[in-house]
Amino acid sequence: THPVAIIGAGIGGIATAVRLAVRGHRVTVFEAQESFGGKMHQLELPGGYRFDGGPSLFTLPHLVDELFTLAGRRPQDYFRYQRLDPITQYFFADGTRLTAWADEPRFAREIEEKLGVPAREVLRFLDSSRRAYEGTAATFLHKSLHKAGTYLSPDVLQALAALPQLGLTSTMHQRHAAAFRDARLVQLFDRFATYNGSDPYQAPATLSLIPHLEHGLGAYYPEGGIYAIAQSLVRLAEELGVEFRYQEPVLEILTAAGRVTGVRTSREVYDFSRVVSNMDVVPTYRRLLPRQPAPERTLRQPRSSSALIFYWGIGRRFPELGVHNIFFSPDYKCEFDAIFREQTISDDPTVYVNITSGHTPTDAPPGHENWFVMVNVPHNQGQDWPALVERTRQAVLRRVSQALGTEVAPLIRAEHIWDPPGIEARTSSFGGALYGSSSNNTLAAFLRHPNFSRKLEGLYFCGGSVHPGGGIPLCLLSARIVSDLIDN
Ligand code: FAD
Repeated sequence: THPVAIIGAGIGGIATAVRLAVRGHRVTVFEAQESFGGKMHQLELPGGYRFDGGPSLFTLPHLVDELFTLAGRRPQDYFRYQRLDPITQYFFADGTRLTAWADEPRFAREIEEKLGVPAREVLRFLDSSRRAYEGTAATFLHKSLHKAGTYLSPDVLQALAALPQLGLTSTMHQRHAAAFRDARLVQLFDRFATYNGSDPYQAPATLSLIPHLEHGLGAYYPEGGIYAIAQSLVRLAEELGVEFRYQEPVLEILTAAGRVTGVRTSREVYDFSRVVSNMDVVPTYRRLLPRQPAPERTLRQPRSSSALIFYWGIGRRFPELGVHNIFFSPDYKCEFDAIFREQTISDDPTVYVNITSGHTPTDAPPGHENWFVMVNVPHNQGQDWPALVERTRQAVLRRVSQALGTEVAPLIRAEHIWDPPGIEARTSSFGGALYGSSSNNTLAAFLRHPNFSRKLEGLYFCGGSVHPGGGIPLCLLSARIVSDLIDN
């Protein structure tokens, strides 16, 4: 067994700590903030409102269960969740409303009824999304793509051979536009590109596997909210003997003769033969390893989008809203061009509203709701954020008020705002990007940073900025890959 340091208590760092502790390693997690979770944190606002600060959509819950099972625990003693039905309420710019039911045939019938697209066309598309997921996920998500051995296994060779049929030459948008004539349905499926911070007009059609995660495998709601994922895993990690050291940022990764020897934190110097960085890979190289050659090509990959979030305590209930609500803009292309080509926010962006108080009544006072209102925005490159925030706040209020037929501004009882510089400051994510580098090009999966250092023995990487990618499930998979690498 080895003494292992983990830099950062984001979900990837916590999951790695659990896995390594189960295997008998002595694990210390250094966290710069006063508590765990990173992007997956929670906040409270005056008046009795609680919010999940970052992620709100939860898929592949078995990846969390697996950690409890590995440790010989019963998952349900720590963490419970339910399958969401309906999943999402969609409000289109032309006034059409659509409910995404969990059951695929029911969802397809709803689309036929509301949008006039034959249900069988929808089911055919969802089935192709399933096949894309089943054909590639094992390769691209479950294994290191950066070890030669990966390419010797038959399933990987098979998946690589199948790739061209999944559409490497067309974009996600082209694929959806070819499948459906209805522009609203194309917009609905294009939105799945934002699940890893990408642009449907540039991202490869391969990403059309994402809808299967939500519609085929299900969207879930953890009892108590998303933060319960981090809370329950930290409880498990502590029971397994993992030491969490909060408000102790790592300032340098120490090295000698081509291998890591320890870390220097704000308080002390520690010896470690293995170090796992859960900090974004760009600042890991730039700040913690300033004298080491950095993999420039990888670090310069375009960033994924960031987010602008308004957390609003709302003094009324809206029975027509569910956990996930989307208020679509009339011009999706303009919106993504603004983010990825002009590095700004369009005048009328699509708005996502997450409300958990319907499922967790203690998240808002009786008769009130907790609205997490999010717009996709570019990562921070020094834009005039105060001006963009103010303009976007007005645009959000206009779009949501119009769709609901009620002025929302007078209902706001409490407010907090998180913007890309704020996300960067709190989590160290480069530019405040939510998912590390974007997947806007065909080879993005291969251009992410590997889960280990090619130059420094004993240095590993987990979390949303490295392979296999951002989002809760992929961060959990990075933990699995790293713990396997450490023991090999
Ligand atoms: P992070 O959460 O990035 O945490 C890194 C940790 O490292 C932080 O706690 C930081 O303080 C710490 N740290 C950094 N530098 C140091 C240092 N030098 N020393 C010590 N500690 C350090 N994903 C989904 O699956 N579904 C969603 O709906 C979703 N929506 C999102 C919405 C928002 C607004 C945001 C912000 C993210 C969203 N995501 C979503 C993405 C998801 O939250 C992330 O991919 C995931 O939580 C990232 O985890 P991570 O392991 O990379 O660590």
